[in-house]
Amino acid sequence: MPGVTHWQHPRFHAYFPSGNSFPSILGDLLSDAIGCIGFSWAASPACTELETIVMDWFGKAIGLPSDFITSTRGSTGGGVIQGSASECVLVSMLAARNQAIKHLKENNPHKDDIFFLPRLVAYCSKEAHSCVEKAAMILLVKLRILEPDENGSMRGETLRKAMKEDEALGLVPFFVSTTLGSTGCGSFDKLPEIGPVCKNQPCTWLHVDGAYAGNSFICPELRPLMAGIEYADSFNTNPNKWLLVNFDCSCLWVRDRIRLTSALVVDPLYLQHANSDDAIDYRHWGIPLSRRFRSLKMWFVIRKYGLIGLQKYIRNHIRLAKYFESLVKKDNRFEVVNDVKLGLVCFRLYGPDAVNRNLLAKINSSGKLHMIPSMVRGKYIIRFCVVAENAVDADIEYAWSVITQEADEMLAVLLP
Ligand code: PLP
Repeated sequence: MPGVTHWQHPRFHAYFPSGNSFPSILGDLLSDAIGCIGFSWAASPACTELETIVMDWFGKAIGLPSDFITSTRGSTGGGVIQGSASECVLVSMLAARNQAIKHLKENNPHKDDIFFLPRLVAYCSKEAHSCVEKAAMILLVKLRILEPDENGSMRGETLRKAMKEDEALGLVPFFVSTTLGSTGCGSFDKLPEIGPVCKNQPCTWLHVDGAYAGNSFICPELRPLMAGIEYADSFNTNPNKWLLVNFDCSCLWVRDRIRLTSALVVDPLYLQHANSDDAIDYRHWGIPLSRRFRSLKMWFVIRKYGLIGLQKYIRNHIRLAKYFESLVKKDNRFEVVNDVKLGLVCFRLYGPDAVNRNLLAKINSSGKLHMIPSMVRGKYIIRFCVVAENAVDADIEYAWSVITQEADEMLAVLLP
């Protein structure tokens, strides 16, 4: 189809996967046919209740601490489906801002909320997605972007030092956004170090963004990658990236739902209903009022594939990424520049950035493969992501043959 970038094509290796599958499409068709707007329990009880059930299923399936699961006895937490990871980060930062202002107001009850804004400072690493910067922009708070270590991980000590410096300037650390599986190179921040630093602060909210990687924690052997999650106040992952659910479907869990909703509650008479006290009204958990019946497609996908089917899908992508990595490593003109843990391989030709820029441009303009660049440790690199649902070894071999053929041609001209 002209003018359409074919995200589902087996030769598409750019970005992260755009989740899709037959059951998911059917679920969304049904949701469209029902056509309800589930902003409150009364506005569509099944839409609300299925969302809670599916979020609990998925939260348990990826091994989140039980406080995040609505149905855990005594739990104050829960999950909600948002439209994007950017919204998950924004509402988490908003809740954190609300919590920090409340805290600061205890000693200054007569000041307007806006008085405290210039003192609030959030943190993330250079490897964090740009949506963190956007959230800080929208919420008018400072953001300090920290240097990660040589593996692209934010370290506890770096954060602790930054907070100390900022506190000496009279600022108040109120939010830390960490990443598990960064967009640029799939790196993981060190939650076991960062968590205790946040806990030492009077009101610092710790968010964990696992937009892509979070889905993979349905495989028990990958859960060590989320070590330290017990310190988190909120966590997000997008089944519309790596769990075969089509866009939009971004899951956010919070440890304390009241801390989230108290930043977002408005309650006009026309939205109230008789069961408000006992039921969940998801309109208080995010920015829009109107909400689609998005849990249906997740329900369809989980029921159709089962956890075993979804684990098989994730493991196949990881296996293929490892296969691609082994092919790159066998060719001494190339280097692999990330620690390949999931479906993303970052690689480059030894040599200057310009050579890699030319190689990627040649490959993309051939129309045979699509990949995108990123920067790792200050160097221009090419990202190769395994994306297609039913990808096989032959797809990887084809991709590598295109890459090496384009490299051969380019280097023959450069180094005749
Ligand atoms: N966080 C991470 C780690 C991502 O990789 C991305 C997108 O790739 C995002 C956030 C933003 O996702 P969304 O498009 O759902 O806002």
